[in-house]
Amino acid sequence: MGFNVLECPEASCETAAAPTAKSGNRPYRLAARGLACYGLGRTPPPRRFKLTNPTAGRSFLRHFIGVKARTAFGRRITPPFVTLYVTTKCDEQCIHCYYWDELNPRPNRDFTPAEFEKTLASMGEIYNLFIGGGEPFLRPDLAEILLAAYKANRAANVYVPTNGQHTRRVRETLEAVLEGAPSMRFHLNLSVDHVDAQAHDRIRGKAGAFRKLLETYEAVRPLRERFPHLILHTLTTVMKDNQHDILRIHNELKRRFDPDGAAYNYCRGNPLDPAQTEVDPGIYRRLAEQVASDYRSGAFRRGAFGAANHALDRRVRTSVEKTAVTQRPQFSCVSGRLACVIYSNGDVTECEIKNSPLGNLRDAGYDFPKLWFTEKACKIADEAADGCFCTHECGHYASTIYSAGRLAQVACAAGARRFSPDRLSRRQ
Ligand code: SF4
Ligand code: SF4
Repeated sequence: MGFNVLECPEASCETAAAPTAKSGNRPYRLAARGLACYGLGRTPPPRRFKLTNPTAGRSFLRHFIGVKARTAFGRRITPPFVTLYVTTKCDEQCIHCYYWDELNPRPNRDFTPAEFEKTLASMGEIYNLFIGGGEPFLRPDLAEILLAAYKANRAANVYVPTNGQHTRRVRETLEAVLEGAPSMRFHLNLSVDHVDAQAHDRIRGKAGAFRKLLETYEAVRPLRERFPHLILHTLTTVMKDNQHDILRIHNELKRRFDPDGAAYNYCRGNPLDPAQTEVDPGIYRRLAEQVASDYRSGAFRRGAFGAANHALDRRVRTSVEKTAVTQRPQFSCVSGRLACVIYSNGDVTECEIKNSPLGNLRDAGYDFPKLWFTEKACKIADEAADGCFCTHECGHYASTIYSAGRLAQVACAAGARRFSPDRLSRRQ
């Protein structure tokens, strides 16, 4: 999925004219500009984006410094990077789904909105909230849950994937959340696994799925004009059955969906069809290079998804690919320390891959700290930090944005990108 530090639409960013850091070498200046321009330093609001909420303009840099200060000397805080599964219901049967054996259980034990609200109220700030499922839009009360996270946790970014089968529900939920949470960036990730209708439908196990997905896209597309804090990504799982078409798929996604970015998941876990994890890292690398080159040449929509986020995406894709090739960790993972997963039945784990049980929120009276500030949770976090590795993008993103060194590299890349010769010559 496309992740986001903090957006600043390049077209409206005034920081390009801001003075650079007075001293220091070129990489430092580039990093400073990258940071300043893309919200890691200060946050110039997008021109048409009316920030009417007290949380408006919360910069990632401020959040980052706050997290570092609060976790000094090994102190624990409730995680600011949360994956929240809102349902186990799904109306597709994707061959790459790693959650297939948990879907549509009887009886259904999904939390009610009140249970989600109580849980969120017991947690601190959540900067990035990733919604998982199941199909999130099968919940008629999804907007209520997202608005609860906005109010209780000052969620700055929410990421919602969808299979696009519920056009009216998607549009109504988006309108309710975008209006009710004007300073929360809403990242809608449309899951598209192939651009040939038949191939997409076969992968997703549902006839007519592609046609319906296009209908949903057409219904939400105009909202981007009304709500600049809506960010639209395509989300494609790279798997055995589509890897040989992946560059064609990528080009067609750009043409048909005009996305703010194209995100790719490396097929992982124990999917419905286990053979789908046989992904050629060389193909994934070529795809990553193509995405980077498209961004350099300005092929993506000039929307709210700015340079720092593209640089971050690129960093993560490289790190995922390196992990797949070397089978070695590329960083010390922050899952269990700054990131967690909450399942829709209240189970809490450090991540979806290792899935170490920390306990259940129903048993803990919806008191998240009761499960988080324990010896067991500390031990699980230590195990994650100490050489664990995987190709799951969430672990790579969280571990990148909460590392000062890696974040500086991303900012350098974003700054260098902004002032690259081809960009400068296009501006003249
Ligand atoms: S990957 Fe497919 S089957 Fe699995 S939850 Fe998502 S839409 Fe449903
Ligand atoms: S490296 Fe991957 S599997 Fe290990 S704790 Fe982090 S996210 Fe989980």
